[in-house]
Order: sequence, then structure tokens, then C-alpha cells
Amino acid sequence: MHEQTNLVQIKNRWQTELIESVTSVEELIMRLNLSPKLLSQGQKAALKFQVRVPPSYIKRIRLGDPKDPLLLQVLPVREELKKNKNYLKDPLNELNHNPKSCVIHKYQNRVLLIVGSFCAINCRYCFRRHFPYSQQHQNREKWFSALDYITNRPEINEVIFSGGDPLAAKDSFLSWLTGRIAKIPHVKRLRIHTRLPVVIPSRIDDELLLWMQSTRLKPIIVLHINHPNEIDNSVKMSLRQLRKIGICLLNQSVLLKNVNDRSDVLISLSEHLYNCEVTPYYLHILDPVEGATHFHVDKARIKTVYSEMQTALPGFLLPRLVKEIPGELSKTIVSLND
Ligand code: SF4
Repeated sequence: MHEQTNLVQIKNRWQTELIESVTSVEELIMRLNLSPKLLSQGQKAALKFQVRVPPSYIKRIRLGDPKDPLLLQVLPVREELKKNKNYLKDPLNELNHNPKSCVIHKYQNRVLLIVGSFCAINCRYCFRRHFPYSQQHQNREKWFSALDYITNRPEINEVIFSGGDPLAAKDSFLSWLTGRIAKIPHVKRLRIHTRLPVVIPSRIDDELLLWMQSTRLKPIIVLHINHPNEIDNSVKMSLRQLRKIGICLLNQSVLLKNVNDRSDVLISLSEHLYNCEVTPYYLHILDPVEGATHFHVDKARIKTVYSEMQTALPGFLLPRLVKEIPGELSKTIVSLND
């Protein structure tokens, strides 16, 4: 018992919060005063993709409301078990662009590194919910091989940390990897795709700020916020700390049925982001991943929502409406005339 207490003490606050995440449907339902009817169907879906929700995110979900937009992103439901031939395990064909362990290289000048093998939250619509992280062995030798891959390709000017959530990795490792990448002269930028500052805001601590400040690569953080209710005071404070040290903050959202497929919700999100000095960057059309059919928003609805956003928002607060088409050399901007 004494030993356990010491272990908790040497962990950073965010790591303790990570450990305290809810990983069972039963506990999630109980904590949120939801009907036990949701249990059996949810448990079956969770066998395919585990439930994981950190306590700080749970606090932002309304008690007893099965339609809460934050809850719908994390609660496993029966609909996930529906089969549809158009919804695939690897909807973006990433495993065909995986030249080395931990490396995904789809676009010429940018390479993505799978830095984190898990996330602090498991989003039910995630396009990597079936990704075989365990096959991407992440030991030092593999990392040196990934670094050689980048070194040998002078056309790569941007490295993207992804995952899983890259900020789920320890700062000492992130600092080591960033230091190695910074030695490759043709790499100009480091982009970090993360949901951690939103779901566990205490992740933005002094240690993390220190390694971000100490690299010649100017980190750009792409957050993933889908709904204005995800931005509470603790998130605002964390984002403020990042802005204080000059980190460029962008946000991408995924358009999700019953979560944010309303223009008033997305307009409010853009306004909240602006107040936190975050630029709304992309509004993604859902990638057709197996288990997420119930999040699909139909074309007519997308057109209505986005054209209402265009009318209400100035250009700099309007995220670009995009979708990813496997094999294309960049993301595809969606035209409302399509
Ligand atoms: S945080 Fe991102 S990568 Fe992780 S489960 Fe959610 S959507 Fe997927």
C-alpha cells in the first residue's frame, strides 16, 4: 500500500488522471446515472473497441442524459455492431502506406509517425479504431530506422506526430524523438495531432511546455474538438499556456450525427475556439470505419449545415469542409455543388 502511494506520487497529475480513466461500460453508466438498459448492448460493442473516458471529460457530460453530445462520442452502443460493406476496418488504406513500423507516408512532403499506441479517450467514430498498434513495435531500433527513412527523403519538410495520441507518450521520449528529428536539416516543422489537452487538460504541464519551447522545430498543435461543451475553464487555461509560448493552435472536428450536425452548434464551437485563440481548420466528413455507421450525416444535411455556417461566420472562423479519399495526394475540399 505504502509502495503504491509512492508510485502515484512520482507520476505527473495527468498520468494519474489517465490511470483513473473509466474503462468499463458499467462504471460509465453508473457514474452518469444512465439507464442500465444501455449496459448489455454497450458491453458487446466494447468488446470490439474498449471504452475509455478520463474523469475530467466525464465531468463535462450531463448526468442522466443519454443524448448528451459528449456522451455519444464515448459510449459504446448496439449500432456499432451493424455491418455495412462500405464501412471498413482501414477506411483510409493506411496499412498500404506503412513503409516501416511507426511510419505512415501518404503525402509527398509530410510523414506521419505513430508516436502513441493508445489514446486518453476512445472516440467511437475513430478511423483508427481497428488499427493494429501492437504490430507497430516501438523500440529504439525501430525509431532509428524511422528516422533514417526521413533523413533519406529530402522532400519531407514536415513530420506529424499522431497515434493513438502522441501526447500520451512521456515527455522524456517526446523530447528525445524531437531532438533527433530536429537534427535532420530538411525537416522544417513538427505537427502534433492530439486530443489530450482537451480531454485531460493537466497534460499541459511545465515539462511539456519546456520540450516544446526547446526545439528549433516550431510545433503546431492540431486539436480535435467536436463540440463547444468540450471547452471548459480547465481546457481554456491549458490552451492559454500553449499560446503564451507561441504555439500555433488549429482545430479539426468530425461532423457526427446527433453530436454536432447542427449549424448553431458548430458556429458556437468556432466562436469558442476564437476566444481561446484556436483557428478552426478542418470540418471532416466522417471516414467510413466499421462500427461508426450511426454517425453518418447525409449529403443534404451537410450542405444545409455548412451553408448556414458560411452565412453566419467570417471566413477566418469557417473551417474547411474536407474528406479524405484513399489514394489522393492531399485531403479533398468538399464543394457544396458536388
Ligand atoms: S483521440 Fe483521436 S486517435 Fe484517439 S480515439 Fe479519439 S479520434 Fe481516435
